[in-house]
Parts: sequence; structure tokens; C-alpha cells
Amino acid sequence: MVKALDKYLFNEAKKYLVGGVNSPVRSFKAVGGYPVFIKRGRGSKIYSEDDREFIDYCQSFGALILGHANPNVAKELKKAIDKGTSFATTTKLETELAKLIIKAIPSIERIRFTNSGTEAAMTAIRLSRAYTRKNKIIKFEGLYHGHADFTKYTLLAPYNNIKKVEDLVDKHREDIAAIIVEPVAGNMGVVLPEEDFLQSLRKIADKYHIVLIFDEVITGFRFIYGGAQKVFNLKPDLTVLGKIIGGGLPIGALGGKREIMALLAPDGPVYQAGTFSGNPVSVTAGLATLKILSETNPYKKLEVLTQDLCKGIKQIVEDYSLKIKINFIGSMFSIFFADKEVIDYNIARAQDTDLFKRFYHGLLKEGIYLSPSGLEANFLSVAHTAQDLEKTLNAVDRNLKNLRRN
Ligand code: PMP
Repeated sequence: MVKALDKYLFNEAKKYLVGGVNSPVRSFKAVGGYPVFIKRGRGSKIYSEDDREFIDYCQSFGALILGHANPNVAKELKKAIDKGTSFATTTKLETELAKLIIKAIPSIERIRFTNSGTEAAMTAIRLSRAYTRKNKIIKFEGLYHGHADFTKYTLLAPYNNIKKVEDLVDKHREDIAAIIVEPVAGNMGVVLPEEDFLQSLRKIADKYHIVLIFDEVITGFRFIYGGAQKVFNLKPDLTVLGKIIGGGLPIGALGGKREIMALLAPDGPVYQAGTFSGNPVSVTAGLATLKILSETNPYKKLEVLTQDLCKGIKQIVEDYSLKIKINFIGSMFSIFFADKEVIDYNIARAQDTDLFKRFYHGLLKEGIYLSPSGLEANFLSVAHTAQDLEKTLNAVDRNLKNLRRN
């Protein structure tokens, strides 16, 4: 059922904004219908312009681990705004945030803040080229590292397929500058690395003088206070961060080995800059968020809540004998209408998108907001409660019943 106000607002938006949006997935192209226009959020909930309430499992695509408008973060932000929002000078706050991140992620010896994950990933690739004096990049199908041009220099391999990576390295050995990977994929839905996949990438990178880049824009501070690299006990050469470290405000960062990072201007020849990079507002929100995460260590609780939700959904799915796979880790999950285990992009995109669309809109009607695509991850925050879960499971149950019936 299309809400009249959403339809009207989207048509208005389309008169002025390309496709009515400022980022494509928000257009609901992947699920059909009209996007919900949101005017505010609080904790686990978001509210539409016509005052419908949704339990939000998108959480700004994982940027918000403390939920919407966390009062402590908001308090710090209000103080920061009163002091001025951007100086484009050095500030003490930037050093403080850098220190916290370096302490939490030991592979990072030096860091540079940017305004988005896109910028940080682009710079990590540029740095890898300068450092190795080679050109090509190995990237995995279905993973996303921002929208910087991936050009003729990009070689593609399926996620979780080491054999294909070895073949590419064999063929282009003299010219591979970097391997870039999300240690846990979040951009084709949640897909976990198979055993030894990441370890094998590390070995290949070491053997052939290739820079290993972990894109932790989603996974950084998502599973533990630190990177997914700690979970998998690995050290990439460079790490790309974003989302959570900005506490709900725009940010990105890249960090890693001192000798690679030293190639960045002003220390080295690789130019990178930004008027708003390290601005006091984003940095304040990031500092407040990381402080709360380190003091409260909510990760175990988040993991248990997510497990309960996913196991609950699995149970319901089995009751209806539907072909659904649920991938989850920490506080991330995806529901795939697929009959095979989802381990790469080909399987992820072969899912039954029609069924997903119906499922999606069925949940939306019940006040459950999932990320609006079967190829995106969903997230829990510390603000999600057992009641939220119960409401969600009941809605899923009713929906699957309907799907099976139709
Ligand atoms: N890398 C990954 C893994 C991401 O998920 C994203 C954004 N979802 C980016 C990079 C780009 O970050 P941003 O949207 O801040 O440019």
C-alpha cells in the first residue's frame, strides 16, 4: 500500500533532486514502491513525515551503533556546535580521536581523517599504487568501496574464492598494487569470509609485495571495540574506516603502516586534502561514540540480541518450509530468499527479488524498516530492545504466512 504523503513528497523530490535522492538505494528502486520520508529518529525507532513509527534495522546503513539521537552524543554535539563547526585548522580533538582509534586497532600506526568512506578508500588505493609502484587492484564482486572510479586497472574475483585470486596474481604478478576487501561483506547483504579466506589473502599479499587493504567502513567498531581484523586475528597494511567512528556524522579515515602512510602529503608526494576533514563536529560525535562503546562494551549483548532475532526468524522460516537463508555476525544480518548458502555475489544476486520485495513491503506496513534492498545489510543498535524483537518476529511470522499463501 502506497502512502499518499510519501508518493507526493517523492514526486516533489524528483522535480529537483536526481532520482529524488542523494544516494541511489534510498529511492527504493530495489524494493519498488515509494521511499518513506523520515523526519526524526530516537533510539531504535524512526518516524515518517506522517508520524508512522518504524523499528529501524538500517540505522543509517550501520553508522549508528548507539541508535538514533543518543542523548550523550547529542549533548556533546550541542556543545561543539556552539563553539564553531569548522575551522579548517588543526584541533586537539582530531589527535584525541586518532589516539583512540590507533589504540583500538593496532595495525594502524598513522591515520588521516576524510569526510567519507569513498574518499578514504580512494586514497588507500592511490597510496598503494605509490608505495608499490604498481598499478592494478584486486577487488571482489559485490563488495563496495565507495564510488571512486575502479578502472581498467581493477581485476575482479568472487568473494571467498582464493583460487581466482591466485590466478589473477599469477597472470598480473608484476603489476598488482593492492587487494581491497571487506573482511565481512556488507554490500551484497551480509556474507561471511570462509575459513582461511582472509588469512590466504594476507599470505598472498606478503609473498608478492601487494598492499592488503581492509575496508572496515561497516565492520570497524561493529563487532568489538576495534576492527574485524581483531576478530580474525589479522593485520592488513591499510584500513579504511567510516560510519561508526563518526557517531552519525559524515566521516571517513584511512590508516595503517607508518611507512605507507608517510607517502601522504605533507610528508610525502601523494596529495590528499579536505576542507571539512577532521571537522570538530564529526570528530566530537565520533569521540563521544567511541567513549561510550569502550566504557559500556555492549558487543556481547548486541550479538546475543542479533542471534535471538536471527534464530527466531530461522525458526519461523522452517515452520513455513520457505527457501530463506539468514547470514549474521555480531549485530549485522541479512535475509536472503535463496536456497543455497550465500557465500558470494552470484548467489546473493540470484535470490528471489520478487519475494523479497513483497516481504519488505509487508514488514514496512507493520512498522519494521529494513535496509531497502536484498543486497544490503541490516543492523541492530544498543537501543534495540527485546520488545522490538518480539514485534519484529511477530511481523515476520505474519508476513511469511502471507507469502506462502500467495
Ligand atoms: N566502504 C564500505 C565497505 C561501505 O559500506 C561504504 C558505504 N556504505 C563505503 C566504503 C563508502 O562510504 P561513504 O558512503 O561514507 O562514502
